[in-house]
Amino acid sequence: MAKMFIAGESVGSNSGQTYNVINPATGEIVDSAPKGTESDAGAAIDAAHAAFQSWSETSAESRAQLILKGIEAVKKELNDLAVLLTKEQGKPVGDSQREIEHFLHGMNFYAGLASKIRGSYVPLPDNKMYGMVLKQPVGVTGAIVPWNFPITLMGTKVGPALAAGCTVVVKPASTTPLTTIRIVEILNRAGLPKGVLNVVIGPGGVVGEEILRNPKVARVAFTGESKTGKHVMEVAGSRMKRVTLELGGSDPMIVCEDADIDKALTGASVGRFYNCGQACLAVKRLYIVESVYDQFVEKLVGKVQRLKLGNGLDKDTRLGPMHTKTQREEIESQTQDAVNRGAKILIGGKRPEGAEFEKGFFYLPTVMTGAPHDSRVVTEETFGPLLPVFKVKDLDEGIEKANSSQYGLGSSVWTKDLGKARRAAERLQAGNVWINSLHIGYDEMPFGGVKFSGIGREHGPEALEYYLEAKGVVVAT
Ligand code: NAD
Repeated sequence: MAKMFIAGESVGSNSGQTYNVINPATGEIVDSAPKGTESDAGAAIDAAHAAFQSWSETSAESRAQLILKGIEAVKKELNDLAVLLTKEQGKPVGDSQREIEHFLHGMNFYAGLASKIRGSYVPLPDNKMYGMVLKQPVGVTGAIVPWNFPITLMGTKVGPALAAGCTVVVKPASTTPLTTIRIVEILNRAGLPKGVLNVVIGPGGVVGEEILRNPKVARVAFTGESKTGKHVMEVAGSRMKRVTLELGGSDPMIVCEDADIDKALTGASVGRFYNCGQACLAVKRLYIVESVYDQFVEKLVGKVQRLKLGNGLDKDTRLGPMHTKTQREEIESQTQDAVNRGAKILIGGKRPEGAEFEKGFFYLPTVMTGAPHDSRVVTEETFGPLLPVFKVKDLDEGIEKANSSQYGLGSSVWTKDLGKARRAAERLQAGNVWINSLHIGYDEMPFGGVKFSGIGREHGPEALEYYLEAKGVVVAT
């Protein structure tokens, strides 16, 4: 049985209760995990609070060295961790490996930034006085993580938090706690002082809620659905906690008549179907300029047809199962809504047949045309392998349609014309714009959303600022 990790120890829940973590490809039990309570979350927060002063006063160089030692320790177990991640999440094992490598890359990035955090000296009008701006860690951070990229999205919070001198309580999604626990344990065993990095498992409405309410938590870094994010903002924000929200998206991709069609096809196919479409930054609406529409759609369907669906542990699988039964039902209902309203399914649109798919939550990669622009596949986030395609007159119509969404996470435009690319980058209402590029988050670049896609930024040096307070110190000489 997996355990939580609090104050340097592996512990069960004080309720004694456990639940099973299910493999989405087979329906089999992967392991059991403790079902944490409010008091378990309180114990993790107490541990992080007790460790804060000493960690915040540890030199930046030493903090960085401890993170780097942790990275080396995780690397040694990379293959086993990747298999475990595939079993609990469903993604192909190569993608699990890349996810953990991405996590390590991010941790390395922030280890490198720890010693670059600096304040400033400020001359004041009275020259017998001067000011200093100290950059100090905010305190205990609650890191609330979803199930789609459980490890990288833990890293985008833990990396800058530890580098800044904050202590952390990680709360993974209930369906993906296992790899998180193992990694937190490895980082601790590699030398992090006890209480600096803890993990507590349990329902969001119980364990997560305690993180939002507990006065010892100074900062909440949340990734998840926009609806949950709104609740997080209300509860944690009203308690004056520092909050960042990385939420849902409905990323548009616009293909212009002068695009490199083959590259754009890869952009659409990988962009939509990677992680079985369960990515915040996935391509969720595809707008194609009319002169290249027919050839693009035909080639896209051919490409999608070749995607190999299966258990993520099989080496040639490109598309695993969806993560849960509920996720699949949601995609089925969104597909049905569009079909009822006149959309045409070009490929997919149903569950695959065959004994190997019977017990898992599989859904065929789906491309549809003709969905009305007020149907659910457009107005809601589609979190699965479903791509609605639309014909537009030109780039300007593409931008207008792209912006007609409550979301504003990512967006991409495919064109060889730099003038058009610039116009799109400026006009698209999104936190991130990719020009002729896959929708990918880079550790080096700030990432986040506008509108209902969130508040604040993760990644990049920008993320560090959310873990630091600027304290003004005025000195009279
Ligand atoms: P979710 O909102 O259901 O859950 C996210 C986390 O919040 C989980 O750990 C959950 O247990 C916890 N939680 C639930 N209720 C809570 C409460 N009352 N208080 C505190 N915590 C609570 O989201 P999900 O289904 O796990 O993840 C999918 C969503 O995440 C999608 O909408 C996706 O777009 C979004 N996402 C966004 C980004 C981004 O960077 N913008 C990245 C990945 C995923």
